[in-house]
Amino acid sequence: MEGAESIYATYPPRLTAAQEQFLASTIKNWTIQNGLTVRPPTTFVSQEAVSKGVLATNAPVTLFPSPFPKTSFDEARAVQKTYNKLYADISRDENWLGEIIQELIDVDDFISGLWKVHDAVKKQGYVQSLSLGLFRSDYMIHTSSGSQNPSLKQVEFNTISSSFGGLSSRVSALHSELLSFPSGHQISYPPHPLFDGRVPPENAAVETLSAGLAAAHGAYGSSKSSPSLPLCILFVVQEGERNIFDQLALSTRISNFHNIPVFRLNTTEILDLTSVTDSNSSRPLIYTPPHAPNTPFEVTTVYLRSFYAPTDYKSERDWAARLHLERSAAIKCPSVLNQLSGCKKIQQVLADPNRQDHLSRFLPQGDSDTAERLRRTFAPQYDLAANGRGRELALNPETAAFHVLKPQREGGGNNIYKTAIPEFLRSIPESDWKSWVLMELIQPPEEARNVALRSDGEVISGHVIGELGIFGTILWSSNGEILHNEEGGWLMRTKAKESDEGGVAAGFSSLDSIILY
Ligand code: ADP
Ligand code: MG
Ligand code: MG
Repeated sequence: MEGAESIYATYPPRLTAAQEQFLASTIKNWTIQNGLTVRPPTTFVSQEAVSKGVLATNAPVTLFPSPFPKTSFDEARAVQKTYNKLYADISRDENWLGEIIQELIDVDDFISGLWKVHDAVKKQGYVQSLSLGLFRSDYMIHTSSGSQNPSLKQVEFNTISSSFGGLSSRVSALHSELLSFPSGHQISYPPHPLFDGRVPPENAAVETLSAGLAAAHGAYGSSKSSPSLPLCILFVVQEGERNIFDQLALSTRISNFHNIPVFRLNTTEILDLTSVTDSNSSRPLIYTPPHAPNTPFEVTTVYLRSFYAPTDYKSERDWAARLHLERSAAIKCPSVLNQLSGCKKIQQVLADPNRQDHLSRFLPQGDSDTAERLRRTFAPQYDLAANGRGRELALNPETAAFHVLKPQREGGGNNIYKTAIPEFLRSIPESDWKSWVLMELIQPPEEARNVALRSDGEVISGHVIGELGIFGTILWSSNGEILHNEEGGWLMRTKAKESDEGGVAAGFSSLDSIILY
């Protein structure tokens, strides 16, 4: 197959107005029929209509799959289990993690709040030695001038609420269906050489993520309550979550395939509907469904699709709820320490070329190949220490133009880009600079194009930037034993080139799939 440049000369094939209209309406129907959906935004329908809970619309989705280099896809998959283990080991190394987090604590109330939860549980003693991670490692293709070969660079590693596994496998199914040729006639797309016999690679995100949760549930063992109670998994979610169908893809698989009861709970309901049995030294977490108050369940595993952003902690009561879960016997996905291991600061420290000992510390002694393989995925990252290179690059508009400034936050929409960086830094106290990291911008292929159908029905086309996420799950014990470590499933998100940010939920990008070349 030809290289990216020649593919994009003709890809995606141009659509006539009638073809675009046909494709968009086919996709609109397909998404509703197959649950590739989100709750509508209130910018699109009234708050009153949304609150009835009966409406759904298509998730933002591209009309075409995006070409992606096979060597990079294979490499991203190949390093995932190593990354899973790395972040599990960081979460277990309280001293190393604590030293880095310490630097953030006086300048970042949110990080400090999380560390306090850990401290409080440590004082009482942790009663659960197992932790579960459902991770997503995000990458872009980097095309450096002078090099023919595209390289794979990590944007970030997510350790909490890694989303879109549920919907991304449906986008693969949608594009595969559009690519198929009933009776030898390609109906949906105009012909293109890239389409000949190709469909997106298998996407086992739902199976992989659900199997991770099921593994934790199984490893929990039998009920710790007396008399013993039936066991369940609890999804802790944000009130009014628009991305609910992504989450339901996992919970449905867990109930139907793994035969495990799953309940959903808003963060604000935790203290009302769950209790920790303190009279029992193993502190089981008990959930009483409001619709079945006579059948309480013991929670084996708490899966957080909330509690990752400061806005999830509106009052002290929400912090109390996080502590309540953390001190219980339930296996947390993630634990507070595992959440903290995903801080951008940790990623910057691991990538520091002058402190290679940091990464090596977590890899098998003498295994320089693995270290080298991970390092190849790192883009340059810097702290903003006085007299350091990061500060110099960030304060000069000419060099800042090639960088992004990141705080210790998740969920998109938090970064400062390019020439806005110097001005931004000067607008905040210098003492706060240490809660930010500077990262060199990855430069994806210039020519990539696609067409997207937004949730409000608009179709937009233009130059795009793709971001590939690889899912992984790991279940580990505080003594270092690994009970489950799997890689499987992927997410392609595509955003307009003019947009610096890339979150789908935050409204910047569309779900996509890939065709390997
Ligand atoms: P978050 O945890 O909020 O998702 P990210 O580090 O993923 O934070 O940054 C958000 C978005 O910013 C990414 O999806 C990507 O579009 C863009 N971005 C982040 N880092 C880089 C980078 N080094 N190069 C290019 N784009 C980046
Ligand atoms: Mg993130
Ligand atoms: Mg991200």
